[in-house]
Amino acid sequence: MSSTVLKIAALAGDGIGPEVMREAIKVLRAVEKKFPVQFQITEAPVGWAGIDAAGKALPDATLALCKASDSILFGSVGLPDRDPTIPKEERPERAALLRIRKEFGLFANLRPVQLPKALAHACPLRPERQGDGIDILVVRELTGGMYFGQPKKTEEVSEAGKTFHRATDTMVYTTPEIERIAHVAFKAAQFRRKKLTSIDKANVLENGILWRDVVTKISKNYPDVTLEHMFVDNGAMQLMLKPTQFDVMLCENMFGDILSDEAAALAGSLGMLPSASLGATAGEKTFGFYEPAGGTAPDIAGKNLANPIAQILSCALMLRYSFGMNEAAKAIEAAVGKAIEAGNRTGDIFSASETNARRVGTKEMGDAIAAGI
Ligand code: NAD
Repeated sequence: MSSTVLKIAALAGDGIGPEVMREAIKVLRAVEKKFPVQFQITEAPVGWAGIDAAGKALPDATLALCKASDSILFGSVGLPDRDPTIPKEERPERAALLRIRKEFGLFANLRPVQLPKALAHACPLRPERQGDGIDILVVRELTGGMYFGQPKKTEEVSEAGKTFHRATDTMVYTTPEIERIAHVAFKAAQFRRKKLTSIDKANVLENGILWRDVVTKISKNYPDVTLEHMFVDNGAMQLMLKPTQFDVMLCENMFGDILSDEAAALAGSLGMLPSASLGATAGEKTFGFYEPAGGTAPDIAGKNLANPIAQILSCALMLRYSFGMNEAAKAIEAAVGKAIEAGNRTGDIFSASETNARRVGTKEMGDAIAAGI
C-alpha cells in the first residue's frame, strides 16, 4: 500500500513536555499501522531545552526544521524557577512561542473542549447542566483586534490643571481578517455538528457590526451550517447555563481569549485540552501548530504523573486540520474515549469516588490509547 509521507517537527520543550510528547509519538506510530501514511517525525529542542542546547529558546536549527516541515507538534515551554535575570524578550514563552506565531502567520486558534460523560465529576457544573457531555470548539482570531491595534500607548496628559495617565488600546478588524477566520470556523463546523455561534458586541462596537455583517455574508458559502449570532456577555453566561447548546463558537481575539478559558474550565483539567493554531493554506495542506492548552507543569514533571491526553488530542487536530485525515483523527479521539471508558485515570482526572476507575501514569495512559487505535 503506497503511503503519504508527512513531515512533523516535534518540539517537546520543557517540564512535562518530553513525557507527554513521547506518548503522542507512540500514538502516531500506532496510526501509521492502521492508515496509509508515514510520519517523518524529527525532534528538536525549544524553550529552556533550546537555551541549554544552543543558547536560544528557538534555536536557528529548530526554526529551520519547522520551516521544512508540514506542521509543528509542540509540547510547552517555560520554567518559572530558571534564571530570573534573563530579559523577558529572551524568555522561552516570548522568544519561542510568539516568534513561531509570527513566523508562520498563525491567525486562527482552535480550542476544542470535550467533557466525556465518564468524567462528569471533573466538571464544575452540576450533572444536569452537562447533558450527554460537553463538546465545544472555540475558534479564536489570533492576530488582530485589541491586542495588536494601533495606537497602543500610555501617555501623560493634563486637563483642568491636573496631570494623569491615559492608556489607549485600539480595536481594529478589516473585512479580509474576519473573512479568513470565518472560513476556518465554518469549515470546522462542517466536520462537527454543523452549528456556528458567532460572538460579538454589535450592540456597542463598530467592530461588532462589521464582524456580524461579514460572518453573515460568509455563511452563504456554507448552507449546511446553521449560523446564530450572540453578544459576548450573553455568550459568557450561556456557557455556564447551557454549554450543550454550543458546537462551534467563533470569536475575535480578546473575546476568544476569555471565552476559551471559561469553556476550558468545563473540562475539569488542563491535561485534557489540545489546541491548534493555523496559518496559511497551500494546496491541500494548512500549516499548523499543535499544542496542549496547559503549560510545563513543573510541579509534576519527570514523575510519570502528567496526563498525555492533551498532547495526544493535539495529534488528532493535526491530522484533521493540516493533513485532511479526518478518519485517523477520529480514530485517535475514539481511542482516548475508550481508554477513559475503561477506567484509566491520570491523577488530574482521578476521583476516589469512582468505583471502576484506576490511577495510571503518563506512560500507561499512552499505552492504553495507542492500543485502542
Ligand atoms: P501549567 O499549565 O503548567 O500548570 C497549571 C496546573 O495544571 C498545575 O497544577 C499542573 O500540574 C496542571 N497541569 C497542566 N498540564 C497538566 C497535564 N498535562 N497533566 C496533569 N496536570 C497538568 O501552568 P503554570 O504552572 O502557570 O505554568 C508553568 C510554566 O508553563 C510557566 O513557565 C508558564 O509560562 C509555562 N506555560 C507555557 C505554555 C506554553 O508553552 N504554551 C502555556 C502555559 C504556561
